[in-house]
Amino acid sequence: MIYLFFFLLMGQRIELLPEHVANQIAAGEVVQRPASVVKELLENALDAGATDIQLIIREGGKTLIQVVDNGTGMDRTDAELSIVRHATSKIRKAEDLFQIHTMGFRGEALASIAAIAHLELQTRNGQDALGTHLKMAGGTLESISETVVPQGTSIQVKNLFFNIPARRNFLKSTKIEYRHVLEEFQRIALAHPEISFKLFHNDSELFNIPESNLRRRIGHLFGSRMNDRLVPLEEETQVVKVDGFICKPEFAKKSRGMQFFFVNNRYIKSPYLHHAVMNAYEGLLRPDTVPGYFIFLQVPADSIDINIHPTKTEIKFENEHSLYAILRAAVKHSLGQFNIRPVLDFEADQNLETPYNLRHSNAPLPQVEVDRNFNPFLGEGAPAVQRKNYAKASKDSWTALYEGLGEGQYREGAKTHWIVESDAPSEALFDEGALDALTDIASFQVDRKYILTRVKSGLLLIDQQRAHQRVLYEQFLENISLKEPVSQTLLFPMKLAFDPGDLEILSEMYESLKALGFAIEEGTEGEVFISALPVLIPDAQVGTVLEELLANWKQQLGAEGFSEADRMARLLSRALSIRPGRVLDTASRQALINDLFACKDPDRSPFNKKIHSTLGVDELEKKLQ
Ligand code: ADP
Ligand code: MG
Repeated sequence: MIYLFFFLLMGQRIELLPEHVANQIAAGEVVQRPASVVKELLENALDAGATDIQLIIREGGKTLIQVVDNGTGMDRTDAELSIVRHATSKIRKAEDLFQIHTMGFRGEALASIAAIAHLELQTRNGQDALGTHLKMAGGTLESISETVVPQGTSIQVKNLFFNIPARRNFLKSTKIEYRHVLEEFQRIALAHPEISFKLFHNDSELFNIPESNLRRRIGHLFGSRMNDRLVPLEEETQVVKVDGFICKPEFAKKSRGMQFFFVNNRYIKSPYLHHAVMNAYEGLLRPDTVPGYFIFLQVPADSIDINIHPTKTEIKFENEHSLYAILRAAVKHSLGQFNIRPVLDFEADQNLETPYNLRHSNAPLPQVEVDRNFNPFLGEGAPAVQRKNYAKASKDSWTALYEGLGEGQYREGAKTHWIVESDAPSEALFDEGALDALTDIASFQVDRKYILTRVKSGLLLIDQQRAHQRVLYEQFLENISLKEPVSQTLLFPMKLAFDPGDLEILSEMYESLKALGFAIEEGTEGEVFISALPVLIPDAQVGTVLEELLANWKQQLGAEGFSEADRMARLLSRALSIRPGRVLDTASRQALINDLFACKDPDRSPFNKKIHSTLGVDELEKKLQ
């Protein structure tokens, strides 16, 4: 017995892991999800000098990923070696690591992928008449034979993680996995406008992009409307050569998705360089928006270390600080050169204050482009007139919110509610006298954020944005519950353009949007036609409202346990609601108070925040003791 124990202890020697276990472990590093396989296969095709690449996936890549290229191809020996770990044709000695011009070099991608999926490889090089067909499953070679194929390589990866259930269960929905695949596809396609690409998902062709230049490539990937939005970027110094395109600030979006850095033509993530770009846009962007950019940096290969991250999207620069400064200056220069000036859009930016950095700067007075429906900004010298304009602007857009409801109907409704539903919880808030002369209740705006008014027992403080959210939310809900949602048909259908990622989400939301009163149809090239809208959404605001809706949808905001339509109603109420900072005139304040207390639940916002609070006379007395 003791003997046996001793023997077991002795048996604990260091041993080499069996090859297939080592490969599975390596696979864990290289392959997180279908998109990682897509990246590796596309990069191999690039390294093989392909000029035409097709990516074919099913179910977001979960069941099939195939890349077909017309590159050099492999002979039989190379094909057999390609799926062996640390077999690479790309580096021969350690020094090569510092002069890498190919995308791959570790020689572990194919071996790793083959360890955790079913892999089939068909390939032929230029010299051989016949190609090679090789089948692997879970790291073991199943068959190898000769085959008739065109020059190039086709690699099929099926049933990812079939032998690692824990990883397989970790995969997200088809839509989400597809979005990740699409991102990889965009990155590679952007870096190689000279190569033609196709992307098929579940048998439909989603992209078919010819070889072209960068500008047109951006258009092919993100919609032809991009053409008017791009500003070229160019700078050459001893440390770095910068080129590419940046987007005009007015097209900056709340959601990320069009920010691309490429270093020596390899996509990288860099919060540091992103900061440099954002810094250059300072003062030009609406709050919380991020401009799109497609920036290519060329640096000497030995001044970067691309080896610090296994999936190679993060790199280390030798001279970060100068890169930061150069990039920032280059972006500023482009924005200046192409006459990009601040745009104050009164509608979208409901914070109607002059931005501080404009007010206090000595720079020449910015010329401001405004939506022609609104009063032009009159400049620093005219604060009084300015205020008047603000009030008017706010009133105009305010009344616009009620368009379609009918002025009389709405007022009457509110008033009857006050008197008839005397058992409603908030009914006793206002005293009788105030009810009779509803429009005469004094109210004030505090900090452009709260409305303060008098009630029977003291003072009532209302959060203006939350109150408005509640009002809109209930109106949207009411609209959904109707068989035929109240919508306004547009005389001329509106054309909006979205990038493919957003289009996917829009199609997810399609039913709920319809239930709310939207009539939406998808056109070609990322265009969407809107022929009817819920009456609650002013048509000039559709674009920004949908954009905010998409951004919040992506961030899973409000997704906890409600129906999709309800979530949509909440997000729309948020997108349309008046913001802190918005000046409300007397009539607007009054209308909001009326509407709020006509709601079924005037106490909580759709995001469950407290809307109002009463400061009792006793509390006020205490304050003065
Ligand atoms: P790496 O790209 O790091 O060298 P991989 O595992 O991705 O390692 O590929 C191993 C080898 O297989 C490559 O070095 C290359 O020689 C060969 N190979 C892979 N894919 C292709 C392809 N599409 N066309 C030609 N050769 C390929
Ligand atoms: Mg590779």
